[in-house]
Amino acid sequence: MVRMQKLNKHFGSLHVLNNIDLDIVPGEVVVIIGASGSGKSTLIRCINGLEEFQSGTLSVDGNILKPDGKSSKALQTIRTEVGMVFQQFNLFPHLSVIDNITLAPMKVRGWRRDDALATARRLLERVGIADQADKYPGQLSGGQQQRVALARALAMEPRLMLFDEPTSALDPEMIGEVLDAMRELAKEGMTMVIVTHEMGFAREVADRIIFIHKGEIAEQGTPEALFSAPQNDHTRSFLARVL
Ligand code: ATP
Ligand code: MG
Repeated sequence: MVRMQKLNKHFGSLHVLNNIDLDIVPGEVVVIIGASGSGKSTLIRCINGLEEFQSGTLSVDGNILKPDGKSSKALQTIRTEVGMVFQQFNLFPHLSVIDNITLAPMKVRGWRRDDALATARRLLERVGIADQADKYPGQLSGGQQQRVALARALAMEPRLMLFDEPTSALDPEMIGEVLDAMRELAKEGMTMVIVTHEMGFAREVADRIIFIHKGEIAEQGTPEALFSAPQNDHTRSFLARVL
């Protein structure tokens, strides 16, 4: 589903991703962990073309992204096939919940309004907020807004879902409801790449954990291997701080 080979990314003189090799197979749930500034967000933003990279190869579901953004056709396809949920929910504040969800399927996929509405209602049901359809984002709790953001991404029928700290902006009592919705999605076989600090959740849902240190994959493995018997000194000291 995702193949990255020798990918390098610089912000000016800063070498943010260093020779990243990463293969993600369909249905796999990959959790990325690492210290602040290690390059986690940059890595997943490269996967849907939100960040350009300078060298290496990247293909997403067979669409090849080239260095320096020279692949606009592939980029368009990837943007429609890859869903993303951010720390800040990024909902359209002037649109109702239901209109937030139907907008892209109608505009980008050309769905008829009643089909888009039916799908949106089904997705709201699935994330447990069917009763909030006609409200505006500002009238919802953070946990509800994030579930709308998830429903909005799923409405495009993505082949791959990216999550960048989806619960970090939430009050503690709302984290569980968002993680529950993500857990369901993982069970249904969605391919997912998740940056999170929720280590219990990571341990439970991940097929593989990747630890990034200063823009390099320092260590990766199953949750058991990585949490119980980390091999790398940086992994060990990171886990000692967060666990
Ligand atoms: P956090 O856990 O704090 O979210 P992260 O692992 O997601 O951190 P990134 O956001 O990927 O880290 O940033 C990696 C490095 O790239 C950092 O040193 C950051 O300051 C730098 N960086 C990120 N975005 C930009 C940008 N747009 N311009 C310049 N430097 C950037
Ligand atoms: Mg980040």
